[in-house]
Amino acid sequence: MAKGIVFDIKRFAIHDGPGIRTTVFLKGCPLRCQWCHNPEGQAPRPELVVRGNRCIGCGACLAACPSSAISMDGNLTVTDRRLCTACGACVEVCYSETRELAGQEMTVDELVAEIERDQAFYDESGGGVTFSGGEPLLQPGFLLAVLKSCANRGIHSALDTCGSGEWDELDMIRKHTDLFLYDLKLMDDSRHRELTGVSNQAILENLQSLSQAGHDIRLRVPVIPGTNDDADNMGRIGAFAAALPALHRVDLLAYHDTAIDKYRRLNMNYPLDEVRSASAQRMNELAQVIRGFGLTVTIGG
Ligand code: SF4
Ligand code: SF4
Repeated sequence: MAKGIVFDIKRFAIHDGPGIRTTVFLKGCPLRCQWCHNPEGQAPRPELVVRGNRCIGCGACLAACPSSAISMDGNLTVTDRRLCTACGACVEVCYSETRELAGQEMTVDELVAEIERDQAFYDESGGGVTFSGGEPLLQPGFLLAVLKSCANRGIHSALDTCGSGEWDELDMIRKHTDLFLYDLKLMDDSRHRELTGVSNQAILENLQSLSQAGHDIRLRVPVIPGTNDDADNMGRIGAFAAALPALHRVDLLAYHDTAIDKYRRLNMNYPLDEVRSASAQRMNELAQVIRGFGLTVTIGG
C-alpha cells in the first residue's frame, strides 16, 4: 500500500475551502519561495525541529543520539544537521519537548481514518478535506489513493497547489479533486525564477488546462510587499485570470512574518527578515486592480 509523509494535520480550518475542513500537509515542495511560511514542508523527508528556548540542558538527547549529531554549547544543545538522520531518538527522550520531528510516514488507511474523524463537521458545514504542503503533487501516488478513498466516502476534497509539475500527474489527480486552491505569485518568469527557484511556465499552462477542463478553481495570490505587490504584476494576474475559460474567484492573501521562528528551529535563514504586511488600504488597492478585470476578489490573511 502507498505510504506518504505528512507533517501536519490541522482540524477545524475555515480558510482552506468551503465549510469546516481538515487540512493535511504533505511533505516536499519543488519551489523555494522566499516568503514560504511552511519551511518544514519543503524537504521531501522527515526533519528534526529544535525549539531551543525550551531546552533545560539535561543532556539526555546527547546520550540517545546514535549519530553523535548533538553537542553542548554551555547549557544549550547544538545539532549537526549533516549528521542527523531524523531517527527521532532524541525526540523520545526530551521531556521539555524541545525536539520534534516534522514529517511522519502514514499509510492511506491511516490518513483517511484521521480525515474521517471530522466527517460530522463536514456534513454540518459543507466542508471537507484540503491537501496542502509543501506541495501535495510531489506525492502523486499517495495523494491519488487518499483522494479516491475520500471520494468513495463522499468527502469533499480541495487541493492547495503551486501548480508546478507534470500535467500527466495533475491530469490523474484532478479527476478525483472537487476544488483547486491554485497559487499564483508572479507573472514575470525571470522574477518567478529568482524568487521561487522555478519557472512559472508549467504553472500557467497547468492552470489553463484545469480551467479548460471545467474545474472549480480559486486563485490564491500571496501579497508580499516589495516582491509581487506592484500594480503591474497584479494587473497581469488579473488579465490572465480573466482570460481563463471559466471565471474564477481570486483570493488575495496578506503576508505575515509569523514563520520566522520556524526557520530558526530548522537552522534555516529567512530571506525576508525586513518585510512587513501590506496595509489594509494597499490590499484594497490591489484588489481593485484585479476587480477591474471583472473578477471577484476576496482579501484574507
Ligand atoms: S533532551 Fe531536550 S531538554 Fe535535554 S538537553 Fe536535549 S534538547 Fe535540551
Ligand atoms: S533525530 Fe536522531 S540523528 Fe538526529 S539529532 Fe536526534 S537522535 Fe540524533
